[in-house]
Amino acid sequence: MNGHIVSSTCPVCGYSLASIFYNGGYQTLATLGWPPTPEVAQSMARHPQDFVQCPRCTHVWNRSFTYDAIPYQNNPNRMFNKGGIWKGHLAKTRDLVLSQLPNEPTVVDIGCGEGHFVRGLSESMNYFGRFLGFDPNITPETGLGVEFYAKYFEPLVHMNEFAPDAVAIRHVLEHLTDPATLLDQLAWGATRLDKPCWLFAEVPCIDRVFETGRIADFFYEHASHFTTQSFKVLMARAGEVVVLAHGYDGEVVYALVKLGVVPSMLDRADAASKFALAADDSRAQIQQQLNELAVQGKRVAIWGGTGKAAAFIHQFGVDAKRFPLVVDSDPDKAGTFVPGTGQEIVFRDVLKSIPVDVVIIPTQWRAKDIVAEMVREAIMAGQVLIEQGGRLVDFHEDSHPYR
Ligand SMILES: [Zn+2]
Repeated sequence: MNGHIVSSTCPVCGYSLASIFYNGGYQTLATLGWPPTPEVAQSMARHPQDFVQCPRCTHVWNRSFTYDAIPYQNNPNRMFNKGGIWKGHLAKTRDLVLSQLPNEPTVVDIGCGEGHFVRGLSESMNYFGRFLGFDPNITPETGLGVEFYAKYFEPLVHMNEFAPDAVAIRHVLEHLTDPATLLDQLAWGATRLDKPCWLFAEVPCIDRVFETGRIADFFYEHASHFTTQSFKVLMARAGEVVVLAHGYDGEVVYALVKLGVVPSMLDRADAASKFALAADDSRAQIQQQLNELAVQGKRVAIWGGTGKAAAFIHQFGVDAKRFPLVVDSDPDKAGTFVPGTGQEIVFRDVLKSIPVDVVIIPTQWRAKDIVAEMVREAIMAGQVLIEQGGRLVDFHEDSHPYR
């Protein structure tokens, strides 16, 4: 038996199929509704609870979840932080973060609620440093060593702006539809800092659900349910996982991660930026060469008008006014028109009666064949040009790998 497989993309590892895991029916919000009367409570909107599990990383999520169904802007996430064992867990994890902080650190708490965790860090450091809390839900007053921002933390902007030594995300990732994006962005944001930046993340852990079969864990506000395995996969996206442990009798899992991306990814991103700059230069250079051909009154034929040849025509601005002649080796393409620019594509035999000064072959790898075809068919041209190294070069005279 293969289980009941459906199409749904895992928010942690990106796998495209999932197993039906638990159907909780249509239920109201469980923790962020705060109805003021029994009538309001009973008439609250019902949302689908349609939990599936990733066969690859074991993550569980509600595939019918909609983030906008939850009134985060109006209603605070009230977490009970006074239980004895829980307070011990908080102190332990706070110490773990403190152990990595330099003197006068900058610490960001994403989804900080009323800010008890980051305030605790600030107190432990005797308020030396900068302690920031981001939370779109509520606007607690800045003070007592903590700066509050009533908005979402955007790593690609704010990592640079605030240059944190540590970022905490506690009991937030399970609410997000796309936690992987936040982790990817934190990792990249940290690469712009000239110092280490640590992530402390914590979520509820559902490992025990599998042992016990209990189902009260599953409610609408938690779009994502982490197993130890899926949490580890998510954390590994953000950098080097230095600590991964459980707290509160195995009910939560947390990690301390040195944020960053692997050198090969940085190299690849660097190479992509260089390619982008070089491509802009190439485009300008070749447009300039084409412009010169037009200004000199050269008679030009473009050999090919569809697919990659059409891409050449588009990207280098080979318009129908200056370059009306487009030919093809394939008689079946004759009588059709170049998409976007509109030149009529004609069979190459037309070049036997109207010789041209220049033939441009956009598809370099076919140039050898086309040149042989020109010789065979006695098609003459003053010059054959192909794109190579960011400019148009002479097929016969210049150096290139397509001869
Ligand atoms: Zn997965």
